[in-house]
Amino acid sequence: MAAPKRFFVEQIGEEVALTGDELRHAKNVLRLSEGDEVTLLDGSGNEYAAVIASCARDRYLLHVLAKRENDREPKADVYLLFGALKGDKSELVVQKAVELGVRRIGVFSSRYCAAYINENKLARLNRVAHEAAKQCLRASVPEVVYFNDFAAALASAQAYEHKLFACEFLQKSERGIPAGLSSAALVVGSEGGFTQEEFDLARGLGFCGVSLGKRILRAETASVALLSVVMYLAGELQ
Ligand code: SAH
Repeated sequence: MAAPKRFFVEQIGEEVALTGDELRHAKNVLRLSEGDEVTLLDGSGNEYAAVIASCARDRYLLHVLAKRENDREPKADVYLLFGALKGDKSELVVQKAVELGVRRIGVFSSRYCAAYINENKLARLNRVAHEAAKQCLRASVPEVVYFNDFAAALASAQAYEHKLFACEFLQKSERGIPAGLSSAALVVGSEGGFTQEEFDLARGLGFCGVSLGKRILRAETASVALLSVVMYLAGELQ
């Protein structure tokens, strides 16, 4: 039998109502009905076995049967900040970042950034994060936020222990990335890359320049590559 379908809800009680987008998904896409078992998630790190007790047009009522721990959330706290990308590339990066285990995602605009983000696009990115979290069995959904101002994006990473800036014009990383790291913020540019001033600003805020080798990677490749390396070093891909 297929694993029970997963739904995020605001709050867990003995009875939970499924409404809105999650209801539409359960009803119209998955065609679930009374008696079907599902898994509920409230973003707390736990998950709950539940059964659909009744189906109305505007809500499904679920009975919660049991609570279990979800051990799929990453222990390391990793924050990915990337420059807004053209077409659906930002969506691709968000999806891959959620699968690889980021806790938080920031999209920024910078000097050579050709794409823009509006409210609709940001909402779409958050939906992509939501779907990706369900698909890879995570217990929480990383939020995607947008920074119109590059300096504000960098400042949002202040509390992270390791701050890494993927810089395409560096010959060599300024420092290695330590194994066993538990907190890191990663900054990756858009298709247009970074200016020297942007790199200098980041260094002034404690970022360390990282090279991803001799070839220039596409922005979406760079995000996935750096994130994979960091997650591996954090012990999350082993
Ligand atoms: N337009 C730029 C390339 C931008 S690549 C140029 O022609 O030089 C997009 C982003 O991916 C960069 O800003 C950087 O963050 C990252 N990136 C790509 N290749 C990289 C490399 N070899 N080392 C470090 N970062 C890299």
